[in-house]
Amino acid sequence: MRHFFSIITGFFAVFGTGLAGQSAEEILLARKTLSALQAQSFAKQREFCGYIGYNSKGELIATPAVGGDIASCNPILPLDFAPTASYHTHGGFDPEYISEVPSDIDLDGDRSERVNGYIATPGGRFWFVGSNRMEVRQLCGAACLPVAPNFVKGADGYIALRYSRDALLRKLGDY
Ligand SMILES: [Zn+2]
Repeated sequence: MRHFFSIITGFFAVFGTGLAGQSAEEILLARKTLSALQAQSFAKQREFCGYIGYNSKGELIATPAVGGDIASCNPILPLDFAPTASYHTHGGFDPEYISEVPSDIDLDGDRSERVNGYIATPGGRFWFVGSNRMEVRQLCGAACLPVAPNFVKGADGYIALRYSRDALLRKLGDY
């Protein structure tokens, strides 16, 4: 009976938190996870990614990061796991790419998986991808996370605090 009870409690914990949207606890976990991945992301010039969500015990966790390539990454969704968000780094600094803002692919990908997202950029920006409202916003600005050693300040021009999908497409089309 105890076992049964804990499963029910776990289910409601997951369901309830999912409805409430991103919590301070989720943001903190995403920030910690991404901060810790910045150094290897810069050194290997590739993205690292995973999910944030609830395990079968109803605990909020970040899944172990997997490595992608310079501009993409496919996280692994574990069994018995209820994702609330994806997370990924944007690799090292490369002037060929606009890395300081999320891409429209980031936004569309999270939307299709029905999760939100968190992103760390080479300039140390921390972004939230809101797939319900279809907009992205900076949770904290340049250099609030570790910064790539070769990062050139201002390389991607003016970066707004928030972009709708259309505004993001215009920004990405700027270059
Ligand atoms: Zn991205």
